[in-house]
Amino acid sequence: MSRVVIVGGGLAGIAAAMRLARNGLKPILIESRKKLGGRATSFIDPRTNEVLDNCQHVVMGCCTNLLALYSELGVLDRIQWHGATYWANPPHAHDRLQAGWFPAPTHFTESFLKLRMLSVGDKVSIARAMWRLIRMGRAGRLAWRGRTFLEFLIETRQTQRACELFWEPIVVSSCNLPCSRVDAPCAMQVMQEGFLSHRFASAMGLSTVPLLSLYDAAQSKIEAAGGSVRLGVSAQSLAFDGRRVTGVVTDEGLVEGASFVIAVPCDRLDRLCSESMKKADRRLQHLAEIRHSPILGVHLVYASPVLNTPHLVLPGRPTQWLFNKGTDSNGRQMIHAVISAADDWMEFSESEIARRVHEDVQWACPKAVGLPPHSVRSVKERRATFAAIPGCHDLRPSARADALGGIDNLVLAGDWCDTGWPATMEGAVRSGFTAAAVCIGHGGQEPDLPIAPLARWMGLR
Ligand SMILES: Cc1cc2nc3c(=O)[nH]c(=O)nc-3n(C[C@H](O)[C@H](O)[C@H](O)COP(=O)(O)OP(=O)(O)OC[C@H]3O[C@@H](n4cnc5c(N)ncnc54)[C@H](O)[C@@H]3O)c2cc1C
Repeated sequence: MSRVVIVGGGLAGIAAAMRLARNGLKPILIESRKKLGGRATSFIDPRTNEVLDNCQHVVMGCCTNLLALYSELGVLDRIQWHGATYWANPPHAHDRLQAGWFPAPTHFTESFLKLRMLSVGDKVSIARAMWRLIRMGRAGRLAWRGRTFLEFLIETRQTQRACELFWEPIVVSSCNLPCSRVDAPCAMQVMQEGFLSHRFASAMGLSTVPLLSLYDAAQSKIEAAGGSVRLGVSAQSLAFDGRRVTGVVTDEGLVEGASFVIAVPCDRLDRLCSESMKKADRRLQHLAEIRHSPILGVHLVYASPVLNTPHLVLPGRPTQWLFNKGTDSNGRQMIHAVISAADDWMEFSESEIARRVHEDVQWACPKAVGLPPHSVRSVKERRATFAAIPGCHDLRPSARADALGGIDNLVLAGDWCDTGWPATMEGAVRSGFTAAAVCIGHGGQEPDLPIAPLARWMGLR
């Protein structure tokens, strides 16, 4: 297959382009912004001229495709791994959850039993739910399609504190929806694949450099293979001859090709397609029905260090996570706060956001009491991810046109496609690798982490 045109230079588009280039094709990657990375990138704050990440992005050990892409980009060494997660439990010291001596899926047992924020009753209820998640395996979780994770928590008789302090922080930050709204299999997949399958699966990786610089090598690698990256070029529509896509109409003219990987968010794709394309391909008929969920990221600078761990979960608080972004030469500490499923925060002013987040920082970090942040920069992403609500699975299209018809040279990619993953960097890269495989005719996603023998024996996979 000859010329492949990719629209969208987020992780899905980058992954597709890198795979095509590696296989001897010469992809043309079109991106409307002047930089790569899409939602997982950085920007220059006009107030301070500092490079800030759009929001803290966390990679987990189970993200095998994203890690393969980082490896191809030569940036794996810029990811710092954290085996432990810290949970605030004032006025006591932070709790710590980390893999111990036991094999997966029991590797958290020792530190879980030591958590002081939960009572024995809370822990027994959580263990009961974990056992159900292990025993049901993949097939069992798919049977929960169309129901919320809260229904599962009720069915497994979770205590209120277990829901509030344990399940809610994990689910809201991985699925960007609360337990009461998220499609159960989405949250179950996070627990099964991210926490139970392998002791490295839940390790948390944080970039030590601005996200944007993780993609530095992409352009040169694509160009070295004979492809090109056109930044600052916006697709306006797709040219369609009634059977196939023939080109991408951009603000700089028509870009023709044999195949087209469209790796833009679903609402953008909806605008690029004509009615005749939608009639011809049922993957395009429900794009406008996909709902979104917001995330709020808040960059705070404190005059002196207030957070003494690399990150901190704030169970039961509106601010869910704090990330320690280091201390500058003046002794000032940068902290990034994250609020997922942030619908209630979208209308707040920056000063109101600062007040609320600082309240939570003071709750978790005694050193912040009476020390208001020196500066605050909030970044609201209203359409941060698709909303993984019950029914969303039916709206997520596959990469290729199915046997029932469709436009066969139109390949779809993006975290919102049918990857089986929540809207994450890993989901985006999986979709990009799949899209490339459709164009090349072979290849595809990287294998998952091998399942631990005990977890397999117990029925997890
Ligand atoms: C605030 C926030 C926090 C997040 N935190 C995490 C996290 O901790 N861990 C995690 O795994 N994931 C996280 N995510 C999700 C992750 O960022 C996304 O799932 C992933 O980056 C999506 O990649 P994508 O390529 O599918 O889409 P995008 O990144 O949206 O890329 C699409 C690209 O298409 C371009 N484009 C759009 N229209 C056109 C056009 N007409 N012509 C040309 N180009 C166009 C856009 O500019 C963009 O670059 C977070 C997301 C947000 C918003």
